[in-house]
Amino acid sequence: MIGFGEPEALTCSRANCRETAVWRIEWRNPKIHSEDRVKVWLACDEHVDFLREFLAARDFPLRVVAVGADPAPQVAGGAAS
Ligand SMILES: [Zn+2]
Repeated sequence: MIGFGEPEALTCSRANCRETAVWRIEWRNPKIHSEDRVKVWLACDEHVDFLREFLAARDFPLRVVAVGADPAPQVAGGAAS
């Protein structure tokens, strides 16, 4: 429960996918975004890997969290290899 009232319909960010998103991918492009700027993509179970690898291939810092999870403090480093 996030507590913002009406639950939003969260849809996967993958083109042409209408699945309900269950993952949130937080990322930024260090070349154009400042440290505190975070972009968010939403992903269904099927596309979370695709979207994460798309960003990881560009060496963008990213974090994948479950939709509805409490926002965690910034994680330094991350677990992705
Ligand atoms: Zn999807």
